[in-house]
Amino acid sequence: MPATLVAEHLALAAPGLSIDSLTKNLCGMERAVALYASDMPSRFRFRRDLEPALLAWIGQGVDRLGREEVRRQASFFAGHRKLWLRDLLTPEIDRRHRARFPLARRLDMAERMASVTIMLTGVAPDARDLPEVIDGPCPKCDGAGKLWGNWVIDDASGWYEEGFALCWLCRDAGDE
Ligand SMILES: [Zn+2]
Repeated sequence: MPATLVAEHLALAAPGLSIDSLTKNLCGMERAVALYASDMPSRFRFRRDLEPALLAWIGQGVDRLGREEVRRQASFFAGHRKLWLRDLLTPEIDRRHRARFPLARRLDMAERMASVTIMLTGVAPDARDLPEVIDGPCPKCDGAGKLWGNWVIDDASGWYEEGFALCWLCRDAGDE
């Protein structure tokens, strides 16, 4: 896993940091991963007085998995979501996602509760750029990271060049 996934975010789980400021440094998907790994019940009715409990469960999930693992799993979760949105999921990538998060309803609950906490604490600017990592061979380039094609150099003059370019699906901005 690229070191860029974890760089500069590791320090955030330092002792002495309040749950609130820890949470602020996690994006929504990271919070969902932490909640999934926590003691949060898979089903409960949300009430305002549960807000501190939600933040505490996020802290608990981070403690259990470690900051690096939370980010790694969240990146895979984001990569899965990216493919799902584009109808590009492969059975292999979907299988790995389900192996990582076998309880679909729980993951759904964790994601909804993560959104609730974003209204509570906001997200620090540095926490927003979660890489979307595809866990398995990329369905567009099959893992090569590049695609052959005719690439627009200048649209106005109709200048095209044939050749390899970085795969738009798996080598998007934010990935390494
Ligand atoms: Zn690709």
